[in-house]
Amino acid sequence: MKIMFAASEVAPFVKTGGLGDVMGALPAALAAAGHDVRVFCPLYQAIGAGWRKEMTDLCHLYVQLGWRNQYCGVFSLEKDGVTYYFIDNEYYFVRKQIYGEYDDGERFAFFSKAVLDVLPELGWKPDVIHTNDWQTALVPVYYNLMFAARQEYQGIKTVFTIHNIAFQGRFGRDVLEYVMGIDDAHYRSGFMVMDGDVNLMKAAILASGAVTTVSPSYAEEIQTPYYGCRLDPILRDNSYKLHGILNGIDMEAFDPATDPALCKPYTDLAGKQVNKEALLSLCGLTGDADTPVIGMVGRLTDQKGLDLVEAVLDDILADDVRLVVLGKGDWRYEQMFLDAKRRHPDKISVSLLFSAELANQIYAGSDLFLMPSKTEPCGLAQMIALRYGTIPIVRETGGLKDTITAFVDYLGTGNGFTFYSYNAHDMLHVIREACGVYRHNRPAWEALVKNGMESDFGWARSAEKYVEVYRSI
Ligand code: ADP
Repeated sequence: MKIMFAASEVAPFVKTGGLGDVMGALPAALAAAGHDVRVFCPLYQAIGAGWRKEMTDLCHLYVQLGWRNQYCGVFSLEKDGVTYYFIDNEYYFVRKQIYGEYDDGERFAFFSKAVLDVLPELGWKPDVIHTNDWQTALVPVYYNLMFAARQEYQGIKTVFTIHNIAFQGRFGRDVLEYVMGIDDAHYRSGFMVMDGDVNLMKAAILASGAVTTVSPSYAEEIQTPYYGCRLDPILRDNSYKLHGILNGIDMEAFDPATDPALCKPYTDLAGKQVNKEALLSLCGLTGDADTPVIGMVGRLTDQKGLDLVEAVLDDILADDVRLVVLGKGDWRYEQMFLDAKRRHPDKISVSLLFSAELANQIYAGSDLFLMPSKTEPCGLAQMIALRYGTIPIVRETGGLKDTITAFVDYLGTGNGFTFYSYNAHDMLHVIREACGVYRHNRPAWEALVKNGMESDFGWARSAEKYVEVYRSI
């Protein structure tokens, strides 16, 4: 099958979160299964010179976007059996940040139009176009409105994946025609509208042949008002084409036996202990073998359940534990951790930055990994943690519920510690339970670590499920 992906971030070229990881791994898994897979991504300034040197300058054309006629260069690169195409326009993509610009709507509308316009130039017609989140939500819309009837595009199917329903691409009515080049009639008909705004995610749900999201539980949850962020009625109406497929992780990129970020790659608990000592000394902390180290890596936002952490942070740090935090995000939570550092300088380390290297050192050097998300479409961090033998403590929601089951000592089952209610003291209780098992039940702990490191979170199974969805349409 000929499968085309369009996404606003693709690891290892550019990544801010889970979407980038998925785009770095799923296409390669599909290519390994024998499909012709090509991935489109903007050529941001953030994509380094190292990668640019490997790219081939393929062609350029002009893309019509409303009244604008914009330059579009196409570069390509082959990796892991996948062809990556980078869409070049310095006006749109040479910016200090990937998202958060005043004209994000226009930037990603341009990208969405460009990926369709370039196909004939590349002499390639995909069977299916798979788009991801609001930034590429206009691809199926443009396809249906402007391309589907043209001979060189006829019969292509579209799939849209929701990686996070909280970000829907909402804009004022005025941008639809003037910026995106879509007739205002599609506002008046209600097709592209939610709560009075142009809503790109809603439009993609309606326009695509199939809609997927990144875990079976999240697929159920987003059909309810609590999780649906106002799109739940649209998803209920379209549940016949909604599928929940769990993400995997790149088992080679995240492998404690070969990870170059670690002081000592490892395959067992003794090797992990060396990394724990290295992490503590890197963070300026001390602790003996009985002191559990709890790691946290992620965006510091409400979604990640940080108000629960805020409510009981002093209680957590009153115990004999070390907390190692890596993340960037809301000022409120950055300050919360900095304040905790002032109160408990010997218990907590706080790094407010983005560092893949430090992230891996934390996955390797921690005993426990705390991820009490309020909502979690899939979550990769808990799987990466397990791969490094670090036992997750999670709230039972979305993909966390689908990947982590509660440890039950007398049954010898489970791979982590979980709580259900969005309640800080329930979380504190399981943190203490987990630390108790770590300190007092070594055989059980060792089994948890060993099972975690041996679990298969690879992409092969999920890639097959995507192929089933492609075939179904
Ligand atoms: P989300 O997509 O909601 O951000 P996921 O758990 O699905 O959450 O994926 C987050 C990914 O980004 C993981 O690979 C995690 O290690 C990485 N990550 C998040 N924050 C940081 C950071 N500050 N430094 C390095 N890696 C980070």
